[in-house]
Amino acid sequence: MGSSTITPLQILKTYFGYDSFREGQEEIIDTILDGRDALAIMPTGAGKSLCYQVPALLLPGITLVVSPLISLMQDQVKSLNEAGIHAAYINSSLTEGQISKALSFAARGVYKIIYVAPERLETASFLAFALHTPISMVTVDEAHCISQWGQDFRPSYLKIVDFVRQLPGHPILSAFTATATEVVKNDIARILELKNPNIVITGFDRKNLYYRVEHLTGKQKDTFIANYIASHANESGIIYCATRKNVDTLYEQLLKQGVSVTRYHAGMNTEIRKESQDDFIYDRAQVVIATNAFGMGIDKSNVRFVIHYNMPQSMENYYQEAGRAGRDGEPAECILLFSPQDVMISKMLLGSKDFEGMDFTETEQVRHQDARRLQLMEGYCMTTSCLRNYILEYFGETTDQPCDNCGNCHQEFDEIDMTQDAKWV
Ligand code: ADP
Ligand code: MG
Repeated sequence: MGSSTITPLQILKTYFGYDSFREGQEEIIDTILDGRDALAIMPTGAGKSLCYQVPALLLPGITLVVSPLISLMQDQVKSLNEAGIHAAYINSSLTEGQISKALSFAARGVYKIIYVAPERLETASFLAFALHTPISMVTVDEAHCISQWGQDFRPSYLKIVDFVRQLPGHPILSAFTATATEVVKNDIARILELKNPNIVITGFDRKNLYYRVEHLTGKQKDTFIANYIASHANESGIIYCATRKNVDTLYEQLLKQGVSVTRYHAGMNTEIRKESQDDFIYDRAQVVIATNAFGMGIDKSNVRFVIHYNMPQSMENYYQEAGRAGRDGEPAECILLFSPQDVMISKMLLGSKDFEGMDFTETEQVRHQDARRLQLMEGYCMTTSCLRNYILEYFGETTDQPCDNCGNCHQEFDEIDMTQDAKWV
């Protein structure tokens, strides 16, 4: 093992400029370097990318990373290239000419890491390349996309395993997600056919996040947001809305009030959307108003607040979106503005969900699950107990004491004079 003189820690320091590993990273890296399949379940912002990028540099062949989003691949490849690591992506944002060039470079061993969309694995040209080039590892990022029970189910993820089966060298498989539920975890391991995987689950507690739920009507929500932004000038924040219409309305309002604001939703022109995203990321705009189309793979460390204008459809969504706050480890707030109307909106959105590729029984099962998830999301908005513990228990962790660092733990209830009332009983 000639290259074994270089350690993962040295790679971390030399290429990524960090001094130490975070929780879970070293265990995953060691597992992979031992030649064993790995499944890592780590919260958003925990540093999952490094867990496959570091071993990719130590393995003899190429690492293929399957990723669901073009923007995500672009960001990752950009920062790898800036770190002096030879990486590329092959996806539909390239022309046919660019794709064949990238593939011929790849076949000559120019790249250590190649990002691809799952659909790419089914194409003849890609398969031809993969069959004739040593591939050491196949990494599946955002692996929950493989499960019908997870958020963001992507049928094309089901094809990954067919591709892997055809590869001659038995590459190592590694899978990464922030979705921790038991069903999704088991689906990933089963559908990807992971062999005796080391499943590493790190804690889901984000200690620097302060969770809070406010029960407000529509108008009150607007006032709350205006006041909040006014008293948090210069702090970067995301406001999530359930619908594009809500995004546009709130955006116009805040713009009129002179707030430095931008917006993001799937109904916008791609270029303008990218520009808006950059305005936020590079601090040219203080606040972004967005639907849940915003955020996957976005790595902005100084987000100080994430406000949900509407209740999301599940705790998975909430945890992931709220989790974009405070990635730098500094205190940040996650505030959910709840009104009963939000439940109606969620039901409506779930009702119009696309069940393409599923039969009747499967569709019914998913509907049932969605309804259950929505109920548990409502439960979060209704509970008077510790919000942090509610989240942790949802993701299967056992909790002990209330956290003393959330809206419910700090709630100051109106003093009610029980003795006065009691007189009339
Ligand atoms: P995830 O995919 O788990 O959401 P990322 O891989 O995008 O998280 O990493 C989140 C951020 O943490 C990135 O800015 C990354 O550079 C940083 N990071 C990862 N590992 C470390 C580490 N060991 N030390 C310091 N920063 C790290
Ligand atoms: Mg990631």
